[in-house]
Amino acid sequence: MTTKRPPTALEKMGLNSPMALALHLPSRYEDETELFTIEDALSGGRFAAVQTQGVVIRNQVLFRPRRQLLVTIEDDTAVLQLRFLNFYPSQQKQMAVGVHVRVRGDVREGFQGPEMVHPTVRAVTPDAPLPRSLTPVYPASAGISQTIIRKAVAQALHEPSLKESLAEFLPAKLLEKLLFSHDWPKLQAAITYLHQPPADADTQALLERTHPAWRRVQFEELLAQQISLKRAHSIRRQRRAPQFEKSKNETESKIVDGLLKALPFKLTGAQEHVWTEIGRDLSNTFPMNRLLQGDVGSGKTVVAALAAARVMDHGFQAAVMAPTEILAEQHYLKMKEWFEPLGIKVAWLSGSLKAKEKRLAQEIIENGTAQLIIGTHALIQETVSFAKLGLAVIDEQHRFGVRQRLEIQQRVGSELFYCHQLMMSATPIPRTLAMTYYADLDVSVIDELPPGRKPIVTKVVKATRRAEVIGGLRDWLSKGLQAYWVCPLIEESEVLQLQTAVESFEQLTVALPDFKIGLVHGRLKSEEKAAVMAAFKANEIQLLVATTVIEVGVDVPNAALMVIEHAERFGYAQIHQLRGRVGRGSADSVCILMYAEPLSMAAKERLQTLRETSDGFVIAERDLSLRGPGELLGAKQSGDAMLRFVDLQRDAWLIELAQQVAERLLADHADLVERHLERWLGSRTEFLKA
Ligand code: ADP
Ligand code: MG
Repeated sequence: MTTKRPPTALEKMGLNSPMALALHLPSRYEDETELFTIEDALSGGRFAAVQTQGVVIRNQVLFRPRRQLLVTIEDDTAVLQLRFLNFYPSQQKQMAVGVHVRVRGDVREGFQGPEMVHPTVRAVTPDAPLPRSLTPVYPASAGISQTIIRKAVAQALHEPSLKESLAEFLPAKLLEKLLFSHDWPKLQAAITYLHQPPADADTQALLERTHPAWRRVQFEELLAQQISLKRAHSIRRQRRAPQFEKSKNETESKIVDGLLKALPFKLTGAQEHVWTEIGRDLSNTFPMNRLLQGDVGSGKTVVAALAAARVMDHGFQAAVMAPTEILAEQHYLKMKEWFEPLGIKVAWLSGSLKAKEKRLAQEIIENGTAQLIIGTHALIQETVSFAKLGLAVIDEQHRFGVRQRLEIQQRVGSELFYCHQLMMSATPIPRTLAMTYYADLDVSVIDELPPGRKPIVTKVVKATRRAEVIGGLRDWLSKGLQAYWVCPLIEESEVLQLQTAVESFEQLTVALPDFKIGLVHGRLKSEEKAAVMAAFKANEIQLLVATTVIEVGVDVPNAALMVIEHAERFGYAQIHQLRGRVGRGSADSVCILMYAEPLSMAAKERLQTLRETSDGFVIAERDLSLRGPGELLGAKQSGDAMLRFVDLQRDAWLIELAQQVAERLLADHADLVERHLERWLGSRTEFLKA
């Protein structure tokens, strides 16, 4: 019988097996392999930490200028001062006069000559041996010392079971070729090397994680990931989904044809192309899992509508889900406009509906009266059950949280039956990300804007020129055109954010008395929001003051000017999205980015890039290099959990290699992959599905 005991600090960090410890790799190293005399340590203006030793000859606590411990040591060559600003009584005792200590730290010029501030100190005999390898410094959480982790790792590296866990699993020939062409060590050797690099190791390469030993580990990790992505791919192909083939006779494609006929425009070449890809997916026996990518304004909605139409032509339901109420509502209005004339029942479901309306909506979804259902994530709540769901469209998919995305996955299918899934996003995903972050996802790209779009002219203007900007705005509105005025996101406080929006609204109302001005923000009830948006769309309101609630989806072609206040507070993606609201009609479009000083270097570069380009892919790449992939995708948890050792920017070339090897393994040695996955990803594979 085992007794239950509280987890140790190591276990709390997840370091609960020899393998976990072996994979807990150092973040940096300290060089304790060399020992200098005090004289040598003091001379020569070293920039790195040095190690020296001596006998304590003085130990005193000073109170001026603040409480601190001063210890003086000496050897045959010189004396050295050690200074501790925070210290424990035990440290004071450890360095009692007469004790021999070995110290390591940076030598700096203090008030009374050279000194070390907060060196690491060990009491040792003068002839205590020096370590032969560099000393690892591990990522640690509070309350756990390096000594404890080092000891545990060193012990783990000697566990017999580790040999098994780190055994090579690649077929011998393939392995040999890989190691030879990249000069990589074997896996176990690589791990040992990273924990205990020899004194003459290339520390730069170790720190930058470009050392062959690191490469070997990174490759192994990517290989596991690519295998699991490819496996997810084949699992999906074994699942069943309803087949929605393109009909050959007209009565069976009534809704698709009806929609195409009713559209006031012709599809662009790019839209035609992605619609063909999606149509092909829908006719398969297995569920579609496709991301439709297209810059803001590229016309994704109509493609989603066509997919829904195909599904409805076959007598199934389609659902469209959006992350915010405003966006969902826009879809609802648009879909109603397109589909109701064709006799389709379009239903609306959001969290803000009254209980009775909600029940009614749920009822018609459940009994199949509702053919097309639009809503927020209220759609995936358990109280909602679809009569015959054939397609789920998820707009701005990355803006849903990881948990919500897992919930969606659970809702779209069971062992018996899966519905098709179409995700949409205006945030372009760089190729390296698409290859590594998403489980088995097909990607379609709309790489062409509808005709007649004018490029947006972006201007960067100091906030001190606000009066001038308002003057320009007056001229603009006088021409019968409309405009947006966007107030900044204030992360700390929604109340403060609202307040600045209200202030700007009042100021603009006074400055522009001849025009109707509306205000929309997150605190409004959804009916109120809808009313303001409808009035803006109908040109009853000329200027719309808004917080970032209008970030996505809003579509008013006559509004071609946007002023963004405190643009320096917005991220790349946000401004790109916001700016995408203009440039939809035939008028010249302008976006004015107002900024307040002082401007950080990063903000300066951001504004400059945004002025120079409106290419979503360029902007996404910049964003990626700045913020890292997790945040960009809104997949922070899942992304981070997936790759521990790989940096997608630095190690992009490795991804392709891993992909090739994964393909070969699955084709020729499918039996080998299972164990590899288990040891590398363990429970983390769940995240791949989100
Ligand atoms: P997004 O991809 O950002 O979701 P939307 O689907 O909202 O873009 O489309 C933006 C605007 O372009 C809408 O007003 C839509 O009606 C219009 N649009 C879409 N496709 C075309 C097209 N082929 N020709 C002209 N206008 C189009
Ligand atoms: Mg959209």
